[in-house]
Amino acid sequence: HAKAMGRNNFQFFSPEMNRFSNERLLLENSLHRALAQGEFTVHYQPQADIASGRLVGAEALIRWHHPERGMVSPLQFIPLAEENGMILPIGTWVLREVCRQIKVWREVGLTDLRFAVNLSPRQFHQENLVGNIIDILREFDVPASALELEITEGSVMENPDAAVSLLNQLNQHGLSIAIDDFGTGYSSLGYLKRFPVSKLKIDRSFVMDIPGDPDDSAIAIAVIQLARSLGLKTVAEGVETTVQRQFLSDQGCDMLQGYWYSKPLDAATFEAFALHAAR
Ligand code: C2E
Ligand code: MG
Ligand code: MG
Ligand code: MG
Repeated sequence: HAKAMGRNNFQFFSPEMNRFSNERLLLENSLHRALAQGEFTVHYQPQADIASGRLVGAEALIRWHHPERGMVSPLQFIPLAEENGMILPIGTWVLREVCRQIKVWREVGLTDLRFAVNLSPRQFHQENLVGNIIDILREFDVPASALELEITEGSVMENPDAAVSLLNQLNQHGLSIAIDDFGTGYSSLGYLKRFPVSKLKIDRSFVMDIPGDPDDSAIAIAVIQLARSLGLKTVAEGVETTVQRQFLSDQGCDMLQGYWYSKPLDAATFEAFALHAAR
């Protein structure tokens, strides 16, 4: 059956295939192979302080160079890996790769940057998450303060009590937590004050059409003010224009990430970018 599908069949990556065990197996194999053959890399998207324009860190974003298909977007394979459990070994690989890279960068003088790693819901609720992360930090001699974990509202709202306890443990070890895509999921503002998180990332969908769209502008302003009154920092995602940057800056947003400042960069290009910014 696999042969009949053809190697370049686009359905190969469609979520629908999950209904069929053959295709499921194929995807699983190809994700296993990707990991074993080193087909994954990590790109780094710079984040800047909005007022000063200074580089403050980067978000680590996984990339898959498929031997036949070329680049496969994480939007395509992360949800499938989340579904079939491959997200656990893939996520561990990302954490180790990022920490290995942070160690190298610290040795060339890039010591003040913070690197954010995405954790999907299944990763967040995996057994011994805290212990695994601490072990990886130790292995590469990376201080917890250099790492930030991005989780989504869904991850915490699924089981808020478990989440509070996990977040407290992570916090006690010095790791900082950002809520990714804030405003797009189901979230209870009441729980927010119980969660020891340090940042809200304003989702790109609310940033895209500001300041022209009054609804999106109102949402962006509300998130910034909510964060401020709870003592949290805000990062605007997907900032592409000077007008967006100015609006967010005027409203008191703390940091930005987006094409306006930089696209995600491969490790070597990010290193050059950061060393230049540090001068
Ligand atoms: P995200 O965590 O919300 O990451 C931000 C996404 O927005 C990235 O897409 C980034 O390239 C894109 N982006 C940033 N600035 C701009 C902009 O100005 N304009 C536009 N059009 N896009 C912008 P990417 O790299 O394709 O990642 C998509 C999603 O895949 C991520 O969304 C995240 O949810 C997931 N993901 C990526 N890497 C990992 C990973 O290592 N682990 C897990 N669990 N998920 C990951
Ligand atoms: Mg993210
Ligand atoms: Mg995001
Ligand atoms: Mg987003």
